Amino acid sequence: MPQRATSPPRMVEYSPTAARTHAFCEKKYYFTWLARRKQGWRKPADHPWHRVYELKGVTSRHAWAGNLYHQVMARTLARVRYGVHPNEAAARRLARGVAEAQFAFSRERRFVGAVKSHVEAYDDISVFLALFEHAYDLPADGVLEETCADVDRWLSTTFAWDGWGPLIAEMRRAEAVHVEPRDLLYTLAGARIRARMDLGLLTRDHRFLLYDWKCHTDDERFVVHDRQKEEHQVLAYALWAMQPGTLGLPVERVVGHIYNPIAGECRAVRFTEAACADVELEVGRWARLQARLFDEVAEVDVDDLRGPYAPDRSCPWCPFKGVCGEEIAWHTLT
Ligand code: SF4
Repeated sequence: MPQRATSPPRMVEYSPTAARTHAFCEKKYYFTWLARRKQGWRKPADHPWHRVYELKGVTSRHAWAGNLYHQVMARTLARVRYGVHPNEAAARRLARGVAEAQFAFSRERRFVGAVKSHVEAYDDISVFLALFEHAYDLPADGVLEETCADVDRWLSTTFAWDGWGPLIAEMRRAEAVHVEPRDLLYTLAGARIRARMDLGLLTRDHRFLLYDWKCHTDDERFVVHDRQKEEHQVLAYALWAMQPGTLGLPVERVVGHIYNPIAGECRAVRFTEAACADVELEVGRWARLQARLFDEVAEVDVDDLRGPYAPDRSCPWCPFKGVCGEEIAWHTLT
């Protein structure tokens, strides 16, 4: 009798963002997991999985401003590879045009029932936006203007940054340029990691320079903690360049840069063998944890999942509050 083929176990994925979400609130992590695993867009609009899928796309005003800055930077830098000199006025015009198109998309609630990857684009940038205010029927007065003003200021600061000219020159000379790459993958300690850098450059003298744009101000109470997390994230991506199967560079030839357009400051991050070993340990812990975490909805008792440290502060602004606060027997859903 022919043997039934069994599919090989899926490889665990490690992402610093997912790990942070899990540490912040296990329920939030569960909903994010559900949105990815259950293809909620295939369900009727009022099915809880469909609602989770939709809420996963909901974003706050501040996160929107950060995304918009990233999108315009990626578009601007991608053109440098084709010989187009970056132009500040053009970048600011692009940001304004995309912001207006995205805001109209959100205000008209076109995100309801939309599949993100199928939504139209404005100058190659998706107009998908689901603002928290629109998803939860809250006033959105001034949100477009405030966001445009923020991004406009950040772009001006970026073009005036003394590292901007050298960065563009380095891009032109580089042997390889990666702008928001999707295909840089490696495995470490039993997990697969996607190196989601904002910009990566392999220079002609075989150094790898990695850039990350951070559009937020440090909370004074958590400066050290936040910086450690940022550096951990950058190193998790930078390790791609050190793998024997990729570039195989020694640790001292890989340098991270965290540029903050709010402060106009760039911090160079140098890595050590010890820091690399720490990332490997953490990834290994994550891979083992995943094996103990839920694999199927039926295994999850949502009420037993740990919530955030201060629910009264975090939950009102959580995109998932619409489903999290409801009595839904998740384990019975199909
Ligand atoms: S509403 Fe609160 S408990 Fe629920 S997922 Fe969001 S942060 Fe976590």
